[in-house]
Amino acid sequence: MQRLDVAVVGAGVIGLAVALELRGRGFSVVVADKGEPAKEASWAAGGMLAVDDPENPAELWPLSAWSRELYPEFLARVEDLSDLRIPLRTHRCLQGAHEGESSLEALQLVNELGLKGDGYAWTLQTEGSLDPRDLGAALRAACDRNGIAVKTMCAVEAITRELDGWKLATSQGEIAAARVVLCTGSWSGPRQLPVFPRKGQMMAVEMEAPLDTVVRTPEIYLIPRGGNRLVIGATIEDAGYDKTVHAADIAALKMRAEKLFPPVAAARVVETWAGLRPGSPDGLPLIGALEEGLYAAMGHYRNGIQLVAATARALGLEVAGEALPQIMTAYAANRTF
Ligand SMILES: Cc1cc2nc3c(=O)[nH]c(=O)nc-3n(C[C@H](O)[C@H](O)[C@H](O)COP(=O)(O)OP(=O)(O)OC[C@H]3O[C@@H](n4cnc5c(N)ncnc54)[C@H](O)[C@@H]3O)c2cc1C
Repeated sequence: MQRLDVAVVGAGVIGLAVALELRGRGFSVVVADKGEPAKEASWAAGGMLAVDDPENPAELWPLSAWSRELYPEFLARVEDLSDLRIPLRTHRCLQGAHEGESSLEALQLVNELGLKGDGYAWTLQTEGSLDPRDLGAALRAACDRNGIAVKTMCAVEAITRELDGWKLATSQGEIAAARVVLCTGSWSGPRQLPVFPRKGQMMAVEMEAPLDTVVRTPEIYLIPRGGNRLVIGATIEDAGYDKTVHAADIAALKMRAEKLFPPVAAARVVETWAGLRPGSPDGLPLIGALEEGLYAAMGHYRNGIQLVAATARALGLEVAGEALPQIMTAYAANRTF
């Protein structure tokens, strides 16, 4: 059996980006996914690069800030390697909060856009958003074009240590690799790691006129997706691995959106879906070594699209035996909960 340098388990944006980073450092890499690549949380996400969302845990900020710094270079590299575009759909966000003070420029924009903003303190943030389906498709293509085998419908059922690495028992036979990186999102995977799913139902509507700004409050967010399309999200539910979309929940989301942005009332619903955010006990991702030759990058909860650049870089440094930034200790995969 051919033994590769690294086997990545899970082909969401995290697994695909980690695979690319490691390939770029000269490792031979295989990726195995139990389904299709980037079709779980990474397909369902809103795509906000929400570094300064006040709903994020404060401890997440150093990682978010590092990822923001790496993001332009990350996107350019994926575009270059895939020959596909991942356009930023928006460049600013109106953030509504229950506490604090509104800024003048934010209030002006609230009025200009026709939002019913009473009851919130509004600030204007410089923040991008992208369509995660663009990112997933480009990451997949970049892997395909750069010698990374992406095995689909290949569930990894167990991993065992061998003398010179690891043996993975999969639904398609065995894989041998010197190192393994677990990127299984909200699935605890072959090592039963402490992650769990938090369901989010979402919808897309077709507006009569486009919006050019993400609008986000603790209750609802509106994300322009190009043309007149607007994504509205999202519920946060503990429903196990169930991804059923309920008409009543979608109707409630739409009502909330209409209250904030009345033109939504006339909009046509064009798509509804649900996805599973990878939760963790302290709300922070698990990134780095579990034991010698075994690593994890999972549990990115509401921010995996934003955190992908720093996560991939951190795994690259760690697997190559290079020093990690000090901030990464807060996200160590082998921390105790
Ligand atoms: C409704 C919603 C809105 C969101 N909005 C945003 C947002 O605006 N901004 C943002 O940054 N993030 C957002 N997120 C979060 C983001 O989607 C996730 O944090 C990110 O996609 C996680 O990526 P991942 O690759 O770890 O997980 P996933 O995309 O879930 O990928 C994990 C993969 O592992 C595979 N897998 C699992 N177990 C096995 C196994 N045993 N063997 C083989 N393969 C396995 C799965 O099939 C899956 O393909 C949102 C998520 C949801 C659900």
